[in-house]
Amino acid sequence: MHKPLETRLEINLSALKHNFEVIKSHLKSETKIMGVVKAYAYGSDSLIIGKALQDLGVSYLAVAYIEEGVRLRKGGIQCPILIFYPQLEELSQLLEFDLTPSVYSFYFLKSLHQNLKHQSVKGFPIHLKINTGMNRLGFDKHQFEDVKTCLSDRQTLKLKGIFSHLAAAGMPNEKRFSLEQIQSFQSAVKVFEAYASHDLTTHLCNSSGILNYAEAEMDMVRAGIALYGYGNHPKEHKMLKPVASLKTPIAQLRWIVKGDSVGYDRKYKAQSKRQIATLPLGYADGISRIYGNGNGIVKLHGKIAPIVGNVCMDTLMVDVTDINCEEGDEVLIFGEGHSALDFDINQLSIPYELITRISQRVSRIVI
Ligand code: PLP
Repeated sequence: MHKPLETRLEINLSALKHNFEVIKSHLKSETKIMGVVKAYAYGSDSLIIGKALQDLGVSYLAVAYIEEGVRLRKGGIQCPILIFYPQLEELSQLLEFDLTPSVYSFYFLKSLHQNLKHQSVKGFPIHLKINTGMNRLGFDKHQFEDVKTCLSDRQTLKLKGIFSHLAAAGMPNEKRFSLEQIQSFQSAVKVFEAYASHDLTTHLCNSSGILNYAEAEMDMVRAGIALYGYGNHPKEHKMLKPVASLKTPIAQLRWIVKGDSVGYDRKYKAQSKRQIATLPLGYADGISRIYGNGNGIVKLHGKIAPIVGNVCMDTLMVDVTDINCEEGDEVLIFGEGHSALDFDINQLSIPYELITRISQRVSRIVI
């Protein structure tokens, strides 16, 4: 009997479409959607997801770095691409591959302006990032006058977008803070509107913003985690479907008896006769050691099994004593029917981290 021998990440494009429709159902028909496909589309595969999102009708895609944008362009993506953290050293690639930078600091703004002017580039599109409380990247209010001065040369730079980022839109107890962020952003838009091109696009919402703050919709939203089937709050997860399912076959089964240990440092010691399944994936595949010793739960034949002992580099062991199974049987680490939240039983991390960490040595298979 043939059984799959490989650990793989299955990418379910119907689930992606479902999540896209859920997002759309929260928005006005004219609101544009930017699909955030940074970090290999949250671990899935930026080209596969980028193409699918382009077909579904996103207006923009966003990635963190220029090389991620170049990969999308080389793969045939044609829609506008925003780069959240552009590096000045790769400026020529922004031009060559028609990538739009987020501009969040004076250093970048001034250097970009000078450089483009020197090359006689005209009307280069940028999105201006405003800090409204995340305190990560973006211009602060006291810098606005200087930013306006830099933007007054409208020949070289074209202000096509203004955006900011919500810090806690998934946290019901931070509603007041989020509303203040929305208000600060709206004021900032008023300040810069006069310097913008006629087709200015304003955007503020991430996934939780989309699902919880209709008043923050603006012209466009930036959807990340919700596209991949997760939210920041149980009520958000409920309506979404996980896109990525991490599966692996049982490499070996063995019975151990009371007193036997499993894995490095003998962290697990059996209290009774147990059946242990070894799975061919480990921390080098993206399953952190924090999930050892019962902190990670997998699923097979509809039943759950805890990780026992420490996670190894290429393997981990689970207790399958109560499950009727054979070597080669398929185990779901997380995904459809057993989400990243179910795997991470003690919520030691967040679905974002779990799904983006799946390493590149795991095959991605579209289903
Ligand atoms: N916008 C920016 C600037 C981001 O950094 C991110 C992700 O971290 C997103 C949007 C998407 O956020 P989420 O995945 O919560 O939808």
